[in-house]
Amino acid sequence: MTATPDASAARDTDSAALFRRASKVTPGGVNSPVRAFGSVGGTPRFIASASGSTLTDVDGNTYVDLVCSWGPMILGHAHPAVVDAVRTAASSGLSFGAPTLGEVELAEEIVSRIAPIEQVRLVNSGTEATMSAVRLARGFTGRTKIVKFAGCYHGHVDALLADAGSGVATFGLPTSPGVTGAQAEDTLVVPYNDLDAVRAVFEANPGQIAAVITEAAAGNMGTVPPLPGFNAGLRRLTREHGALLIMDEVMTGFRASATGWYGIDGVAGDLMTFGKVMSGGLPAAAFGGRADVMAHLAPIGSVYQAGTLSGNPVAVAAGLASLRAADAEVYAALDRNAATLAGLIGDALTAHSVPHRIQNAGTLLSVFFTDNEVTDYDEAKAAQTWRFPAFFHALLDRGVYGPPSAFETWFVSAALDDDAFSRIADALPHAAAAAAAATAP
Ligand SMILES: *Cc1c(COP(=O)(O)O)cnc(C)c1O
Repeated sequence: MTATPDASAARDTDSAALFRRASKVTPGGVNSPVRAFGSVGGTPRFIASASGSTLTDVDGNTYVDLVCSWGPMILGHAHPAVVDAVRTAASSGLSFGAPTLGEVELAEEIVSRIAPIEQVRLVNSGTEATMSAVRLARGFTGRTKIVKFAGCYHGHVDALLADAGSGVATFGLPTSPGVTGAQAEDTLVVPYNDLDAVRAVFEANPGQIAAVITEAAAGNMGTVPPLPGFNAGLRRLTREHGALLIMDEVMTGFRASATGWYGIDGVAGDLMTFGKVMSGGLPAAAFGGRADVMAHLAPIGSVYQAGTLSGNPVAVAAGLASLRAADAEVYAALDRNAATLAGLIGDALTAHSVPHRIQNAGTLLSVFFTDNEVTDYDEAKAAQTWRFPAFFHALLDRGVYGPPSAFETWFVSAALDDDAFSRIADALPHAAAAAAAATAP
């Protein structure tokens, strides 16, 4: 096909046209399912640039960003310190396949922030971090079964896709074809926040459970924090039964607080996983924990794990610059901004008599259209999620970009300023009215 750069081709770059083009060459037009607006309808916005708290799409519309790349951008977009660090690293070479100073510094930064972490291994995505942690837990314990919680998402790891919350929930898939029966059988799924169920599963599978994996505070079925004592109970039960506890802090790490959810409830996993914020917005993630467990990893141990681009110097520079810029002031701003956003959403929904409950876990928050506290996945699914598409689109139409799914967490940045909040405040009454007017299917 010969393409001449005529006027019609030039017009072919608005979001709607790009989505059509993308859908020809990429399944569903996107490289990660939730971006497709599947549960809210409409056309995903193609983003041309972003700065501070603002996204600009290819049509020139601007939005206050309350997704923050699904968590990473706590400083806001194109933060000068991070962009400079990336530029400097890139101009010194993009990848060497040999160790670098930056990897040591990023590992030291993580180890120094999260006291129980003695060693970390850098990887490229949160999925890779949890996949590797599960393999290591199996190698370390010599056991096969993994316990996970309904509604918790740990990346698209075969063994962890059962009842995996947001992305999977949005598309109504109980689990995923392509996951073998053996993999599914080795995954025991229990309700979140239910210690009795965990106790029962240990009793029913004596000596067989390698690990319990949990989101430190659940953020992938909407925001559902652990009930008081839940994480501590998991800590106790795993110890009693010789299993490892894997605390997945990919979403909460360095965001829920400076020291993640660990800094809030003080319960550490034997292994912990990180991603999102520690990446600075480039592909980087990590898993780490007890040195005696991590010693089972190759090259010193026999559990194999590797990566051509792991610890990539440019990604590591972005992550390190981001964490170093995220000082006490940034976390205070995140706390303030999360509280302000929750207050504005709550006021608007109350004014329009929309049943709602805003839940938070540190600086993570989400809104459920229900009068009741949501403590597990069944309760999250029982909320009036059919109000969400109207709420979402009314905000989007007025320049506020929230998560395009009722089961996703809303992410604030420290860059949200008075202008951003006045745009949010102006948009919310329309969104609340739209949510009030929505009808059950
Ligand atoms: C996002 C997320 C993952 C997966 O990370 P990716 O980088 O998307 O692979 C794993 N666990 C949790 C809790 C997450 O929120």
